[in-house]
Amino acid sequence: MENFDYVIVGAGSAGSVLANRLSEDERTTVCVLEAGPSDWHPFIHIPAGFMYTLVNPRVNWLYTSEPSAWTGGRRIAAPRGKTLGGSSSINGHIYNRGQRLDFDGWAQRGNRGWGYADVLPYFRRTERRLVPEADPTFRGSDGNLPITDLEWRDPLCEAFIEGAVQMGIPRNRDYNGAQQAGVSYVQRIIQNGRRVSAARGYLHPAMKRRNLTVRTHAHATSLMFEGNRAIGVHYRKGGRDGAAVEVRANKEVILSGGAVNSPQLLQISGVGPGPLLRSLGIEVKHELAGVGENLRDHYAPRFVARVKGAPTINEKSHGLRLVGEVLRYAVSRKGILSLNPTLIYVFWKSDPAVDNYDLQFTFTPASYKEGVQSTLDDFPGMTIASWQQRPDSIGYVRSKSADPFAAPTIQPNYLAAESDRRVLLAGMKIARKLICSPPLQKYYDREEFPGVQAQSDEDLMTAAKQRGTTTFHLMGTCRMAPDSDPTAVVDDQLRVRGLESLRVVDASIMPTMPSANLNASVLMLAEKAADMIRGKPALEAVTLKD
Ligand SMILES: Cc1cc2nc3c(=O)[nH]c(=O)nc-3n(C[C@H](O)[C@H](O)[C@H](O)COP(=O)(O)OP(=O)(O)OC[C@H]3O[C@@H](n4cnc5c(N)ncnc54)[C@H](O)[C@@H]3O)c2cc1C
Repeated sequence: MENFDYVIVGAGSAGSVLANRLSEDERTTVCVLEAGPSDWHPFIHIPAGFMYTLVNPRVNWLYTSEPSAWTGGRRIAAPRGKTLGGSSSINGHIYNRGQRLDFDGWAQRGNRGWGYADVLPYFRRTERRLVPEADPTFRGSDGNLPITDLEWRDPLCEAFIEGAVQMGIPRNRDYNGAQQAGVSYVQRIIQNGRRVSAARGYLHPAMKRRNLTVRTHAHATSLMFEGNRAIGVHYRKGGRDGAAVEVRANKEVILSGGAVNSPQLLQISGVGPGPLLRSLGIEVKHELAGVGENLRDHYAPRFVARVKGAPTINEKSHGLRLVGEVLRYAVSRKGILSLNPTLIYVFWKSDPAVDNYDLQFTFTPASYKEGVQSTLDDFPGMTIASWQQRPDSIGYVRSKSADPFAAPTIQPNYLAAESDRRVLLAGMKIARKLICSPPLQKYYDREEFPGVQAQSDEDLMTAAKQRGTTTFHLMGTCRMAPDSDPTAVVDDQLRVRGLESLRVVDASIMPTMPSANLNASVLMLAEKAADMIRGKPALEAVTLKD
């Protein structure tokens, strides 16, 4: 058995940040257990390689969610990264923080120190914004992760933006600045045509340190306790049939396995809802009703239109043109291989009367077979997706057995809340206007999906059921909340309630969904947690004008 001060389970977005920050103190020893392999595969680093990593079992847990009424009884793929960098090694590269009111909402729920003014310095600490005019109130300049603007320009994207502007949606120079609302090209964690995952930005630079040990192919199977104190982790080296190993934590065990695996590891270790654990024959060490509950995700239907008069990514991805693109990327790191899945973002309101921007849209001059993002259509196509930013529908992650290698039940209950369906419907109507706006008319051939015959609210909801997909933002399953909340799993220092020397630091602690893709917020919360764990004072809150 080996001993370290800290044992971190999972080398994903959060685990990579923690590994780096905790090992900055050379008197401290840190061990990271990662179930997946090293991140050597070239398709992790080439931006368009997401189409490969999205479906590859070597670097992806390849979960699926349970069927539900509003997915038309479909199971929906729920990919999760399984390699150094975790989901930041297979994600869509987008950098998007959310709105001020998201984090003020976290604080208003009784989570001290998590308001926007408190978290903004940690967002800044993660990033190196490589744009000269970045506003230093909001943007960082010397963090670990380079945030760049998309340089790609094409007639379809330009026409799409012009169309949005004509509909009254203003251009926004920086949706991660003072205001999120508007239309703009995306900001990405890509530099010189290569993905910068949390592993590349945080973990690999720290792996030179002698006090940091990173174990790959190390699947944590249960937590070790002495009374109420977490003292270490059991893991298997190389999978189910591999050697059983124990690693001890002198100070703390930190779970950074992500929104699916952290609650599962707690549950199979006897920490979770008593009735569930008993039904699985798991001895209850510590009853915590909220473990695995409060799951939320973004659910996005897509409109696809056939394009005329301008090339789309679809044709460039086939035959000789693809060969040309590969050569172009090899020489200049430019072209379609340097692109992420969506190129333009719009943040807008479902209704002028609502007081916040509750809709997000993404546009790309490409389209995917059956809406699944791993195979492009053979015809020239463009796609717009829309989703409700802060969903009310709540689901769960529940172990199906005590077996740590068995996938748990993932039930997001997409669109179960009437409010989500109402906002989504409004979003679909706006999306349809955006994809055939007057400036796009010269390129718009016809609507492929759902097709112009789908006009009524019922038709649109049928389309949402047929082809809606996740946008990969599972969160909330080890919710941070005050004691008074029966679903609380961690306190505002991210310590598991009722236990000692055990924290959860990953997307699962988020109390509610930020109006954003999640990676930026996970990086932020891991930076903040690192200061808590090291006993350092929090970075000074920013003074913001109202
Ligand atoms: C396909 C996809 C596209 C996305 N696109 C974007 C995007 O463009 N922009 C954005 O902001 N967000 C995006 N996201 C979401 C974002 O990347 C994730 O929310 C974020 O990376 C989650 O970070 P995490 O630290 O919570 O978990 P993860 O990064 O998933 O890390 C968890 C790590 O723990 C390891 N692990 C789990 N269980 C065990 C165990 N038992 N033992 C050992 N190791 C274990 C996993 O293998 C993994 O490496 C996307 C996600 C996916 C999956």
